[in-house]
Amino acid sequence: MKNNVTLTVKGKFANKYKSGYPLISKEAILNMNEGMKEGTIIHLIDEKNRFIAKGYFGKQNKGYGWVLSRNENEQIDQRFFVNKLRDAINYRESFFNSPDTNAFRVVNGEGDGLGGLTIEYFDGYYLINWYSKGIYHFREYIINALKELVTFKAIYQKKRFDANGKYIEEDDFVAGERGTFPIIVKENGVNFAVYLNEGAMVGIFLDQREVRKKIRDAYAKGKNVLNTFSYTGAFSVAAALGHAAKTTSVDLAKRSLNKTVEQFSLNGIDDDAQDIIVEDVFHYFKYAVKKQLEFDLVILDPPSFARSKKIVFSAEKDYKNLLKEAISITKDEGIIVASTNSSSFNMKKFKGFIDQAFRESNRKYQLVEEFSLPKDFKTIKEFPEGNYLKVVFIKNLP
Ligand code: SAH
Repeated sequence: MKNNVTLTVKGKFANKYKSGYPLISKEAILNMNEGMKEGTIIHLIDEKNRFIAKGYFGKQNKGYGWVLSRNENEQIDQRFFVNKLRDAINYRESFFNSPDTNAFRVVNGEGDGLGGLTIEYFDGYYLINWYSKGIYHFREYIINALKELVTFKAIYQKKRFDANGKYIEEDDFVAGERGTFPIIVKENGVNFAVYLNEGAMVGIFLDQREVRKKIRDAYAKGKNVLNTFSYTGAFSVAAALGHAAKTTSVDLAKRSLNKTVEQFSLNGIDDDAQDIIVEDVFHYFKYAVKKQLEFDLVILDPPSFARSKKIVFSAEKDYKNLLKEAISITKDEGIIVASTNSSSFNMKKFKGFIDQAFRESNRKYQLVEEFSLPKDFKTIKEFPEGNYLKVVFIKNLP
């Protein structure tokens, strides 16, 4: 940690960094050295040798590291991380005190001034996600800071240094007392099973909390609901608890069947009355058209990228076509919940895909609800890419 490297920000990028942009990118740096040690402290200066910010080197798909401080005299030490974590924890006070929700994000990367790191809370269990070897280099400081600030049942971690999960260990226990999984967490009074010992995905994506609540409280009643890319069926559970007539969950992964049954039963829902289908959604759409199945509410929440046997799906390239498939099996006046977590396009472009899909289907539509990340997924205006979640409820007009 003694290693310091000074990097010069190119003229046309200097103002951006001076006004708070946090991601250290290759294109912005005059003298980037890709071979430097992960965790190296970086001092960013402008072409006139004036200090801009300090950060760390950590390779991620997103860039080469993150700014940590704009104060030249700040030391990146134990105290630094305690202060950052304390601010982050205080910002989530209402979540810690919530009587009906005990699963939320405590640290959201650059939104909390700690790019490359997230920490989530699951009923007394903390899960740290490290997104680069660079940030992992500071693990002792960060884990000690957490231990100092909170009481916990246990701390777990995921080393998500690369997108293929090469560094993920099934049971990456850090401190406390090992849990027995699943642990059952609560979100707006709904139960969800969470496994911190099964790889990167733990059973629930916390960023959709408000969308699930909205579906349950305002859109599900009496409806025939199709939930595509359903994973553990969290949206189906929300719809069923909102008194949907029936839910159909479709996911390619075999594990999704048992996991979805589990989530239903944790909430007292008879899974025999629901359909859970393990299949490629694109096949399912064809099947549904052939059988003339139609739904009142269709939920689309695909990954940004997915590779199945035959199809490569990229949200940026293929979302429009996914919507067209959905439109073809949505009833008149029905609702499509279109969601994407792709950070490669913004809401405006997403709405462009929606518009195109309806035009090409010769349909009219109305946008009825819009969601982005919830409060605990804190973002900063200087880094709009960080606000990746886009959810739009669309009414299919006759
Ligand atoms: N909507 C879910 C999260 C989706 S995660 C939720 O709210 O919890 C993405 C899911 O898409 C994964 O479970 C993966 O198995 C599934 N998936 C990816 N490609 C698919 C395809 N072509 N057909 C069906 N499911 C697919």
